[in-house]
Parts: sequence; structure tokens; C-alpha cells
Amino acid sequence: MEIINPATGDQIGSIKPDNAESLQQKYKQLKAGQVKWLQIPVSERITIITRYAGLLEANIEDLALTLTSEVGKPLNQSRNEINGSRYRIKWMTSNAAKYLTDETMYADESITEIIRYEPLGVICNISAWNYPYLVGTNVFIPALLVGNAVCYKPSEYATLTGLHIERLLKQAGVPDDVFQVATGDAAVGELLLDMNFNGYFFTGSYKTGKYIYEKVASKMVPCQCELGGKDPLYVTDDITDIQSVAAGTADGAFYNNGQSCCAVERIYVHERVYDQYVKAFVEEVQSWKIGNPLHEGIYIGPLSRKSQISFLNDQVEDALSKGATLMCGGYAPSTEGYFFMPTVLTAVTHEMKVMREESFGPVIGIMKVQSDEEAISLMNDTAYGLTASVYTTDQERAEKILARMHSGTAYWNCCDRVSPSLPWSGRNNSGFGSTLSHAGIRAFTQPKAYHLRK
Ligand code: NAD
Repeated sequence: MEIINPATGDQIGSIKPDNAESLQQKYKQLKAGQVKWLQIPVSERITIITRYAGLLEANIEDLALTLTSEVGKPLNQSRNEINGSRYRIKWMTSNAAKYLTDETMYADESITEIIRYEPLGVICNISAWNYPYLVGTNVFIPALLVGNAVCYKPSEYATLTGLHIERLLKQAGVPDDVFQVATGDAAVGELLLDMNFNGYFFTGSYKTGKYIYEKVASKMVPCQCELGGKDPLYVTDDITDIQSVAAGTADGAFYNNGQSCCAVERIYVHERVYDQYVKAFVEEVQSWKIGNPLHEGIYIGPLSRKSQISFLNDQVEDALSKGATLMCGGYAPSTEGYFFMPTVLTAVTHEMKVMREESFGPVIGIMKVQSDEEAISLMNDTAYGLTASVYTTDQERAEKILARMHSGTAYWNCCDRVSPSLPWSGRNNSGFGSTLSHAGIRAFTQPKAYHLRK
């Protein structure tokens, strides 16, 4: 399997992918390893994972270089991601024991009723490339802390990073037979679906998630899907600092080249502030430096996958053919690598693909609205339900609007944000189940009810 640098199109490595036989071998090891891992006290597992976080910190420059070289995100964003992962791990290691402790629900002189949180066993984590440290951490860290063994399949676009993660986990003290990486593309993912894991935890597109959910249904094991989004953001008419709202929301749409599950994908602006907002937004977008992501100061690097260029071209062409106005960008420059100019479209409608399909790239549509009611109706007009955001100086107004959003996350005066202490979950085509928070620790357990009569 070739590893390509998306900034240049050059091959930077090659990997021998797994096959059915090697995966069976790994699975057998994990099955045996998990039994021993479970005997280790939680406190010791926490110490090992804390050591792993320390290794991320100590090796951050090398890890960031690899990440940027294989997915194309600017070097500073790679560093931010690794630090973000450490921050999440800190929350998990500080809270795991609390949420894994037995809970006595009832006790009298004759009977005690207890909930005990047992691990699932050997779980399979099929993951995405856009934030391999963050979305990986959401799954394999709590899974390990709970006492599961993990088969981790990084995306074929982030394989070198997946192998770094494996190396550092083992260096930290996770036994060989408790964490294994499955390398390869969709075909290797398919092989994993044919095996007998005790749970499947998937991060990726709706299309793949739906397929996996259907495929593993008959196994009668937990299957959790964290999928894509078409996240809306509404700028009301009472905002005062239009420049900073425009800059903050543009960052929410274009950070990591728009390749974030919770990137802002649609913007609705009240007609009273629309013209000023659009002007400030476009100025912000045009101020960014585009180029080699290894160079400091670059904000927009290449897309991670070449195929995304034709996908975005199609969205732009579709919008223009239906009457949209191109404010900037709209094309792939004729340089080496998989670049696409940051693109702002106005006069968009919900008949256009750009307002319906997840773009997952540096393309945004901005639409004028006349009222909160109109904004609410448009924001909810989607098959997805990951996040929704409102900018207003009035908290009550914000909360009223956010209460009506069909999304797993609601933001007031912020966007494109994830906190380890809050559940990360989607609704509808954005998936189901939670990572992060206490829900994201217990997701890797099965509660057992103990009825203990004296
Ligand atoms: P993808 O669905 O193409 O691939 C995800 C993983 O699934 C990869 O490891 C891939 O090899 C594997 N895979 C593909 N086909 C498979 C099959 N038939 N059987 C088994 N495995 C298969 O997604 P991607 O391009 O890696 O990631 C981008 C998508 O992920 C976007 O839609 C994004 O919004 C979403 N995402 C969601 C979250 C979240 O937390 N909700 C986080 C990150 C990314």
C-alpha cells in the first residue's frame, strides 16, 4: 500500500497491508491478552496510559511531521491535534476510576444491589484520517482503560500515524497482545467485519457507517457510529462585533481545510447584518496563506485525498448552475499536490448540493434569512445532526433556538469545538452512541446487575 504526501503527490512510504490470516493471528493474541489485561488494576492501566500521553508530548515534533506529511494539515494544526489528544487523555485518566467503580443502588439487611461495569472484551475500532489522534483517542483510550483489548484500524490515509500510536502505546507499557493495528484500506476493513469482535466502534462517513452497522447487526454486539455532518451556523441580527464573529466562524468552517466532522458547513445570516458579515468573512478567507503545510504560517494546506477535488468541483459547478454567486475560490490551482482554493458561495439555496451534501473541504455556502423561524427551519432541513451553532448577544434567544435543533451538540457563540467532559454524539445520519464524557467511558463496558442476598 503506497503512502502519498498530498502536498506533492510523492510517494513517501509503502506498507504491507494485513490479510485474513494475519488478522486472525492478531485476533487470537488479543483474545488471550484481554484476559490478562483485565486482571491489572484500573490504577495501573491509568499509569500506563498517562505514560503514553507523556510520550506524545516528548515526541510531538516527529509525530506532527509524520501527520502533516501523510494527511497534509498545516504543521501547527498537527501539533494542536496531538496536544488536544493529550488534553482528552488527561480528562479520561482523571475520571475513569470514578465511572468504573461499582455502584450500590440499593442495600438493606437482606440484599445488596450493585452495578458493576465489565469490559466488552476485544473491540474493533475502524477509524478516519482527518484527526487520527483525536478520534482514535476517543475510542481506544477509554476502551483500554476499561480493560478491553483493541484492534485498531487506522484509515489508509493515516497509516504511519496509526503505527506511531501503536509503537508509543507499547513503549508506555500496553502489552503486545492487548493492542494491535490492522493496516489496509476498505478491503481490510471488510475482513474485520467478518470476524467475531465483541463490539465495533466506527468513525467515518455515513455511507460506510450505514454499511458497517447493517453488516454487523446479526452479531448482536454493540456497534457505535460517529459519522459526518452538514453543520449549520446562524448569525442573528444583534451581534455587535461583526469582524470577530466573521473571523471566528470562518475558522470554524475552514480549519483543517474544512475536513472536520464538526466543521461549519452551512451559514445563515440575518438580513440586517448580512452584507457586513459576508464582506468581513470573505476578507478573512482571502487573508489566509495557502501552500506547503510544512511551512510555518500556512493556514490552508492540500486536501488529504485527490478524489475530493472533483467532488468539490462538482458542488461548486452545481451551485453556480443554479444561480449561486462565487465570492472567492472555486477551483483547484494548477500546482503540484491536491490543493483547492478556499471557496465562499452566496445566494445559495437548499436545492444545491453545497447546502445538502457534506462538503468535507474548503467550501462554504452563506444564505440570507429574515427571521429566527426561517433560520431554524433551514438549519433542521438536513439528514445529518452533529452540531448546530448560534451567534447572538442574547443567551435566552440562543437557548430557545438551540433547544429546537436536531443535533447532538449545541453551540452558543462558538463552533467546531469538542470537550472531553461532554458527550460527543450525532443524531440521524451523523450516527449514534457517545464517545467522551462519562458516557464515552461506559460505552466500552457492559453493566452487570448483581443481586447479593446475605
Ligand atoms: P470513510 O468512511 O471513507 O472511511 C473510514 C474508515 O472505514 C477507514 O478506515 C476505511 O478504510 C474504512 N472502510 C471503508 N470502507 C469500508 C468497508 N466497506 N468496510 C469496513 N471498513 C471500511 O471515512 P473517512 O474518509 O476516513 O472519514 C471522513 C468522514 O468521517 C467524514 O464524513 C467525517 O465527517 C467523518 N468523521 C466523523 C467524526 C465524528 O466524530 N462524528 C470524526 C471524524 C470524521
